[in-house]
Amino acid sequence: MSSTVTGRRDDANKKSGLPIIRCLCGTEILIVPSIKHMSVAIENHVAKHKRQLKDTRQAKEVEGELIRDFLSTQMFERIIERA
Ligand SMILES: [Zn+2]
Repeated sequence: MSSTVTGRRDDANKKSGLPIIRCLCGTEILIVPSIKHMSVAIENHVAKHKRQLKDTRQAKEVEGELIRDFLSTQMFERIIERA
C-alpha cells in the first residue's frame, strides 16, 4: 500500500484577505475604508518611523517623505485591486 504525500501548502495566513500595507521597516498598517483614517495612520507611522532612525535630521526628513510616498502608493494599489 502506498500513500501519497499531499504537498499542499497552507497560505491561509499569508493571504487572509485582510487589506494591509507594509512599511519597509516591516510594520503593517490595516487599510480601513476611510481615506481620512488612512492618512492619519500613515502620518502616525511616518512620525514613529522617523523617531526610530538614528540619522541626521535631514536624512529623517528624506526618509519620511519616501515612506509616506511608499505607503500611499501601496494603499491606492490595494484599493484599486479590490475595486
Ligand atoms: Zn516604517
